Amino acid sequence: MRRQNVNTQTRLCALFGHPVKHSFSPLMHNSAFRYLGLNYIYAAFDIEPRNLEVAVNAVKVLNLAGVNITIPHKEKVICYLDSIDPFAELTGAVNTVSNTEGKLTGYNTDGPGFICSLEEDCSFDVRNKTVLLVGAGGAARAVGIQLALSGASAVGILNRNQQRGALLAKTIQDATGIETVTLPWPREKHPVLEKDLTSFFQNADLVVNCTPVGMYGVSGQLPPLPYHLARCGQVAYDLVYNPPETRFLAKFRQSGCSVANGIGMLLYQGVLAFEQWTGHRAPVQVMRESLIKCLE
Ligand code: NAP
Repeated sequence: MRRQNVNTQTRLCALFGHPVKHSFSPLMHNSAFRYLGLNYIYAAFDIEPRNLEVAVNAVKVLNLAGVNITIPHKEKVICYLDSIDPFAELTGAVNTVSNTEGKLTGYNTDGPGFICSLEEDCSFDVRNKTVLLVGAGGAARAVGIQLALSGASAVGILNRNQQRGALLAKTIQDATGIETVTLPWPREKHPVLEKDLTSFFQNADLVVNCTPVGMYGVSGQLPPLPYHLARCGQVAYDLVYNPPETRFLAKFRQSGCSVANGIGMLLYQGVLAFEQWTGHRAPVQVMRESLIKCLE
């Protein structure tokens, strides 16, 4: 691995979030820059919400090549950018900003990163497939809209807060025209509602956990699904990657399903950002290995 020399020509990329200290992105991007011998460096900055505008202006003033944006700034950052790409506009969130001659453009690489991971890690072609999404937050929105744009035939949303789930279902349907269904979170026994969830679950080709349930330190271990009905041929994807195998994934694996955790999505959202900033093809395997090292 080459050494990284910082000099007057070095281009800076960065992460803006609050907090940022647990992020894997600096290691992943710096490994890639070193491997390709690119004169770039990536640093993480903890930006308090009240400082976001100043921080975004600094991207221009200091001529950074680009930045990643993470929680809690993904939506708010949009009003400080010069433009955003159509997918970021649909999702209402930006996780990657590129700086081209002082013009800041926002992208959302979470959705495309998820699809790349599905194809590469699960050999899953989403076209004409039925997908059950658990969750209706920012990640579910990017994943759900991207799945619909990539050709999924139906998307069901199961969310603890059913109103929020219904809103996401409507957003996906309005944005893409595909069929969406809001499913009831099975808190109380209600046979009719449970039947809706059960039959959608049985027909689903792909089930995606877009909640933090199952992640280290998060209460609640398992999204409430009829796991006993999981069947061989279904694919289960958990956006959580720490631990590498959540109870959600274990349940599906035990039924003979293909499973994948969110490390691939993290990887490919980074790959797409890297290529946007540098114009170089990203060294995917090097970036993957650096993420695996972080997890270990
Ligand atoms: P968010 O906007 O805060 O949304 C959280 C979602 O999870 C909401 O739907 C919320 O339901 C649900 N939820 C939270 N705690 C829950 C619990 N105890 N039981 C049931 N549902 C619960 O978060 P986000 O940005 O969408 O992120 C969601 C997860 O995806 C996080 O774990 C994040 O780390 C992960 N993620 C991974 C990647 C990757 O690259 N692998 C990328 C983005 C996000 P309510 O609406 O009912 O509150």
